[in-house]
Amino acid sequence: MAELVFFSGTMDSGKSTLALQTDHNYRARGRAGLIFSRGDRAGQARVSSRLGLDVAAHEVTDDTDFWAEISSRRSSGEAVDYLVCDEAQFYSPEQVEQLARLVDEMEIDIFAFGITTDFRTRLFPGSARLIELADRIDVLQVQSLCWCGARATLNARTVDGLMVTEGEQVVIGDVGRGEVAYEVLCRRHHMRRMTALTARRRSADESLWG
Ligand SMILES: [Zn+2]
Repeated sequence: MAELVFFSGTMDSGKSTLALQTDHNYRARGRAGLIFSRGDRAGQARVSSRLGLDVAAHEVTDDTDFWAEISSRRSSGEAVDYLVCDEAQFYSPEQVEQLARLVDEMEIDIFAFGITTDFRTRLFPGSARLIELADRIDVLQVQSLCWCGARATLNARTVDGLMVTEGEQVVIGDVGRGEVAYEVLCRRHHMRRMTALTARRRSADESLWG
């Protein structure tokens, strides 16, 4: 039986690495698959991981119709046994529904990888639909850590190291790069808006005055 599996984790949890590993494993067993991504940090149409792996992918846009795309590939004789879908939080709910239909009606395995919540701790629409429809949800076991050492479960958006809580849901950035960046935090420090920089400043102040 084909399955729709949602692998979720925070930004630092190694999702893209696992996406590429999954593709490699299935390909090595002689199965035919396609890799999709949306707005990856490497730019258009690639899946890259922080460990240095980097492969070509099909870019998902607002116009992507997974059902139409895969139907047409199959009817032209191409084998498609599975899809690896990275950055799935950025897919629309309709696109997630198309993926579920591919599982049910074409027996295609779908491996979707994404973060669940945005920098305001709200579910991305694509992730919400995946949680609703997935046969299985796998929370990644590579644990990302907050600066305090606790398990980081939330993504914070920072500008120059300080946490911001307003703005567009999607602003592409990467952990630790650029003016707009992202930092993973434990819930306690997300709620208190304490990033690594804020914490360092606070402890510097305390040693100065304490
Ligand atoms: Zn913390």
